[in-house]
Amino acid sequence: MLVKDSVGTIESGGVFGNTAFIGHEQVVFCQDQETGLKAIIGIHSTVLGPALGGTRMWNYNNEADAIRDVLRLSRGMTYKASISGLNLGGGKAVIIGDSRQHKTDDLMRKFGQFVNSLSGRYITAEDVGITTHDMEMVKMETDHVTGIPVSMGGSGDPSPVTAYGVFMGMKAAAKYQFGTDDLRGKKVLVQGVGHVGETLVKYLTESGAKVMINDIHQDVLERIAGEYKAEIVSGNIYEQDMDIYAPCALGATVNDDTLAQLKCKVIAGAANNQLADEVRHGEMCRQKGIVYAPDFLINAGGLINVYSEIAKYDSAEAFRRTENIFNTTLDLIHLAEERDITTHRAALQMAEERVEKTRIEQK
Ligand code: NAD
Repeated sequence: MLVKDSVGTIESGGVFGNTAFIGHEQVVFCQDQETGLKAIIGIHSTVLGPALGGTRMWNYNNEADAIRDVLRLSRGMTYKASISGLNLGGGKAVIIGDSRQHKTDDLMRKFGQFVNSLSGRYITAEDVGITTHDMEMVKMETDHVTGIPVSMGGSGDPSPVTAYGVFMGMKAAAKYQFGTDDLRGKKVLVQGVGHVGETLVKYLTESGAKVMINDIHQDVLERIAGEYKAEIVSGNIYEQDMDIYAPCALGATVNDDTLAQLKCKVIAGAANNQLADEVRHGEMCRQKGIVYAPDFLINAGGLINVYSEIAKYDSAEAFRRTENIFNTTLDLIHLAEERDITTHRAALQMAEERVEKTRIEQK
């Protein structure tokens, strides 16, 4: 039997019986009539440390979609922190609403008060729809916030560190696939040349790769093509002749359609949730002989950078720790081969094993 209520359809098994909640320690619903704030904070795990993850503001179709999103994202943060060797748990927050219409300083400060009420079990940061200014508002109400500007003593924009980690992960996948991590002459398609994509193009051109770029903004493409000698590609990019595909725009671009066309040997990019269906498309990559470098492993440079605000290390140390993504990625690909499973599955297992080991040690 299904019960209809304001969050949409919930199985009569109730909240705790709902599969989406499995494994979550705490989910906090925050509401404030005066500012119109409606937020959900998902704390998936605090086994390895406080649950850290950004706040996303999005105009969800319904509240059930918002719940699904926050739970999926907070769980993902547990895995990302764990596999990166950080003493952080996984959490995420969503604010329901159109960031251009509904966001006010008062709303963000109210949200900060809710974050503060969790006494550090959840630490927030920026995500889609949230700006540095918003985080400054949150910071007025709580110290449990990261990713603030360098001028305010924070770690600043995480994108360059993220790009460096993606580059390291890509090199590791290339080493396994091509026998060398030297990318000279390799044809690499970077989809999405925003904050992360542009810096990745810089690393790639410096390493002698033949870089192709694609974006929805022509002016950005032209600027980057000129600056880094990259070739602009348009139309159906998945048909391009390429060795490496680097998705740095949207998620779910590795799917039935694109896998039928992709001729690359490596997929390594910054976008979150690249596999439309983690199990099915992870397996399809394996069957096609494509090495997929798991997104949550190789795009963790940003989190490593943000963690510097808690663990008190400098930017140089953040880059040094991010460089280790090369070793972790290579180990992971070998582990997947040994266990005869997809790299995505192996990454989840690696992350889960560390959380489990810590949980047992804490008993
Ligand atoms: P961004 O918004 O700066 O850049 C994204 C770029 O993709 C933009 O230039 C945009 O025009 C382009 N784009 C959007 N739709 C496209 C499409 N259909 N085809 C081609 N290009 C398209 O974002 P970012 O900070 O560079 O992040 C890129 C991806 O990496 C995102 O998925 C993000 O979630 C993920 N990520 C970013 C970080 C970080 O530190 N910024 C960390 C981890 C993961």
